[in-house]
Amino acid sequence: MLPIAHIASALVVNRVAGLHTGMAPAVAGALLPDAIDKTLAWVLGVVPAARHAGHTPVAVAAFGLAGSALMGKRWGAAFASAYATHLVGDLWRHGHVPWLMPFKRYDVLGERWEVGYDRSTLLLEAIGLATIVVLARQPADSQSP
Ligand SMILES: [Zn+2]
Repeated sequence: MLPIAHIASALVVNRVAGLHTGMAPAVAGALLPDAIDKTLAWVLGVVPAARHAGHTPVAVAAFGLAGSALMGKRWGAAFASAYATHLVGDLWRHGHVPWLMPFKRYDVLGERWEVGYDRSTLLLEAIGLATIVVLARQPADSQSP
């Protein structure tokens, strides 16, 4: 899954869960796992795979708690939800997520610095973009009685 679909799925999950606190926690939570692990793997070369410690439930909990402490419980919950949604989204097309790290060792080969732009991925990005546009034009507050 690419960034736009990650953001869209986080926005939808937060909206359905009633965690809508604006775009910021959804966008930040949707993008942070890849920002961490792809930077560590592809730029700095200090971890063996682009889905590593930043792609774990431990990271969801740690960053969710940090978000709650810094921005409030509702913002932290929306951020953690978006972060967790990213991990589930990475299962798209048989993706790998190290769910049990650091409690289990993973012998994962590093991923190439390459993004697949096949038809289904591009279609998912287009649907994600349309979803973002619709949700951005329809604030959750306007649906409240
Ligand atoms: Zn990812």
